[in-house]
Amino acid sequence: MIIINGLGVSEGIAMGKLSLRNINRPNISKMYIEDIDAEIERYFAAKNQAYKKLDEMYESALKHCGEREAELFEVHKMMIEDDDYQESILSLIKSEHHNAEYAVKATSGKFFDMFLNMDDDYMKSRAEDVRAISRMLVDSLIGGDIDGMKDIEPGSIVFAEDISPGEISKFKQRGAAGLIASAGSKNSHASILARVMGIPTIVGIGDGIKEEFCGKHVILDGSSGEIYIEPDEKTHKNFIIKIETTKNQNMQLQKYKGKESITSGGKKIDVYANMNNPSELSEILMSDAEGIGLFRTEFLYLGRDSYPSEEEQFQIYKNLGMNMNGKKVIVRTLDIGSDKQEKYMNFPKEENPALGYRGIRVCLNNPEIFKTQLRAIYRASEYGNFSIMFPMIISVDEIREVKKLVLDVKQELSEKGIKFNENVPLGVMIETPAAAILSSDLADEVQFFSIGTNDLTQYTLALDRQNSMVGNKFNSNSEAVIRFIEMIVKNAHAKNIPVGICGEMASDKDITEQLLNLGIDELSVSPKSVLAIRKNVISSNAK
Ligand code: PEP
Ligand code: MG
Repeated sequence: MIIINGLGVSEGIAMGKLSLRNINRPNISKMYIEDIDAEIERYFAAKNQAYKKLDEMYESALKHCGEREAELFEVHKMMIEDDDYQESILSLIKSEHHNAEYAVKATSGKFFDMFLNMDDDYMKSRAEDVRAISRMLVDSLIGGDIDGMKDIEPGSIVFAEDISPGEISKFKQRGAAGLIASAGSKNSHASILARVMGIPTIVGIGDGIKEEFCGKHVILDGSSGEIYIEPDEKTHKNFIIKIETTKNQNMQLQKYKGKESITSGGKKIDVYANMNNPSELSEILMSDAEGIGLFRTEFLYLGRDSYPSEEEQFQIYKNLGMNMNGKKVIVRTLDIGSDKQEKYMNFPKEENPALGYRGIRVCLNNPEIFKTQLRAIYRASEYGNFSIMFPMIISVDEIREVKKLVLDVKQELSEKGIKFNENVPLGVMIETPAAAILSSDLADEVQFFSIGTNDLTQYTLALDRQNSMVGNKFNSNSEAVIRFIEMIVKNAHAKNIPVGICGEMASDKDITEQLLNLGIDELSVSPKSVLAIRKNVISSNAK
């Protein structure tokens, strides 16, 4: 038995025969082409075919994942049409007399390196996309199975050097049980899609998989990041037990649907779900969450090339409020900047983006963008049970400035005769050490707190949450963060306002009791964790 370690980016256990996807890829050699016009014609025919395929992938992703994930294929369509990319391919055909597939391959390499050498993480991740569209083009030119999909048997575990986002749905269609890639990161589009499609996936294993492993029996644990090649009988049995246990646990949890989340000590806890994208609404409704404790609205601003209009946002909030049917929806105002930005936002390049221009800082600097969002939420407040909370607050002055803008918006709406809920509760996200220290004063200003433990951990422990090199030290359940939580709860309760946690820590099933004993009133978790957390709440003694 050989054990290989990688980065688990999509949880779940998969077992099957290993397929090596890349070994089928033919070599593309350079050829001298006499008839340039015919070659260009051949190239454009292939491009049209690839474009059509991207359209199909868009439709498939829209059906299986949602709008945001599907958006990526729109980006790929734009990239395949990009003037510089086209120009490079065509000039290699025209002036160098290269064959089209070689021109695509050479251009792909050039653009891949260019993107990879960019400082910006978002632009860096475009390198993968260039490779994906180029592969599609070559595939169309050769008319073969360049992706090596044809030999993938249903139920197998597929290894590829790198996996492009478009390939994830192809792997799913071919019935791949799990995926392994040499390269990749947790936040790449491919990893996001693998999670959404529920394919256990491990990336970043380098050159751990050898060609001779092909066809061998493999177990992949997407949670631990471990791959077992030809597992021994004991390991195999342990994983069978693990799979059965998870299945049974999930079945057992179904009985918590419809139950109230009250501790045996008699305290009502709100078990809410986090939402990143409106396409997750049906999963949230199915999860039986008692509300939405964090709607990360910045995702409405990402994956596009201009700010969403007030009307567009209003329709989304209205629809959400109506579908939640009276259940609470806590809207977190725009938290762009740092790792969440788009070209159209024109943010300057920063040395230290996590400590820079993000969250409420951007909103207070751009009151019109902020007020557009507030107007949309207040207009929608007629159709649902909304609360609003503000990210990255570091001072009392900041929240007062925010409240002044809120007042302006309410006045504007009143003057126009537009109806809205006057009493939408306002809250502060406590996610900076400054906000934690000032929590007693901030509690005088708002109606609730929600602790963003992801950022509170990052800033308290001085550990970059995006940096995989310090990932093993990143622990929200560390003494310093716990003491902050204790202090925040004490200060909030002294002023009679409730405190929730909406960071990943709330989904950690091993510490629910600890958090409830600290006095937490609400836990906002991933939809998949709602029932497990409710179960923990019900069995907790917290009062
Ligand atoms: C947090 O920081 O814990 C949080 C919930 O916000 P985000 O993860 O969106 O920064
Ligand atoms: Mg945060």
